[in-house]
Amino acid sequence: MIKKKILVTGGAGFLGSHLCERLLKEGNEVACLDNYFTGSKTNVVHLLDNPYFEMIRHDVTMPFFIEVDEIYNLACPASPIHYQYNPIKTVKTSVMGAINMLGLAKRIKAKVLQASTSEVYGDPEIHPQTEEYWGHVNPIGPRSCYDEGKRVAETLFINYHKQNDVKIKIIRIFNTYGPRMHPHDGRVVSNFIVQALKGEDITIYGSGSQTRSFCYVDDLLDGMIRLMNTRDDFIGPVNVGNPGEFTMLELAELVLKQTGSRSKIVYMPLPADDPTQRQPNITLARKELGWEPTIPLEEGLKRTIDYFKRIV
Ligand code: NAD
Ligand code: UDP
Repeated sequence: MIKKKILVTGGAGFLGSHLCERLLKEGNEVACLDNYFTGSKTNVVHLLDNPYFEMIRHDVTMPFFIEVDEIYNLACPASPIHYQYNPIKTVKTSVMGAINMLGLAKRIKAKVLQASTSEVYGDPEIHPQTEEYWGHVNPIGPRSCYDEGKRVAETLFINYHKQNDVKIKIIRIFNTYGPRMHPHDGRVVSNFIVQALKGEDITIYGSGSQTRSFCYVDDLLDGMIRLMNTRDDFIGPVNVGNPGEFTMLELAELVLKQTGSRSKIVYMPLPADDPTQRQPNITLARKELGWEPTIPLEEGLKRTIDYFKRIV
């Protein structure tokens, strides 16, 4: 028997496609909505044989109607080169997408989860970042279309909850990686692996001393689904990420070691407003979700490298 009917926006993307797969495995019926900007049918084609799965080509900036129990709102390009390609569209996707999904949730009384981001903390002045921290974001910089769009989305979620009793959940996702990242989407893990496998130069932006904390996709989705299933009065925002923190130089060296590549490391200019450090404080996730990551970077990289070996 089908447990729940679930809508996943951005379902043909990296995280969305894994989420659709997981939710189907757990016995749910899943509708995957996507405009295929950064996602692809290839990511979900293996699910099409399942009669409880359907794909819908739609843009979240336009109203949409469906009857479901839950909505996971993931639609939004996530890599800097893609979200900066058309910054106005990125803001519209976050803001109008949130309005449309919240309006839908209100009308059909569904629970709705927002895929927010560590970028709401901007270039953080406190370390590690806790949910109480308000952030340090440049409102007119190149990353603002994404950061501020996601911040307004959180504002909309909180206010639909307070004003209209919509059941909401907000997850703040820290850098997540794994199979099905787009090989050319410019994010650091996929860039370094693809470069190493092709024997091309490994491009470090800046000195490589900036840090990120990398979470493997399976861990992240476990946290996301746990959050959706928490009691109604727990709404977040909650950080979900792996506190293991690495410099980009350490990451490059790890990728070189694990691929056995002889690629050279080269240094390129640091993009404007690139955050210098990032690490989640996951005390709240531990307490409220009973969650913590289980897959260390070395293991996650191994699985991701195996995937890229098959496709590049
Ligand atoms: P992704 O780019 O692979 O997936 C985003 C999906 O949304 C794609 O399939 C894309 O085609 C779709 N999309 C974009 N604009 C749309 C629109 N207007 N209408 C319908 N669909 C649209 O990125 P991802 O890494 O899978 O990220 C998924 C979500 O998680 C995003 O909201 C992102 O901001 C958030 N997030 C991801 C990370 C990460 O490290 N992967 C970190 C923080 C937050
Ligand atoms: N980065 C890098 N080389 C690359 C791609 C990215 O050194 O080829 C750096 C980037 O400047 C940033 C970090 O890696 O400091 C993470 O970048 P990504 O785009 O993956 O995520 P975000 O900056 O959004 O956390």
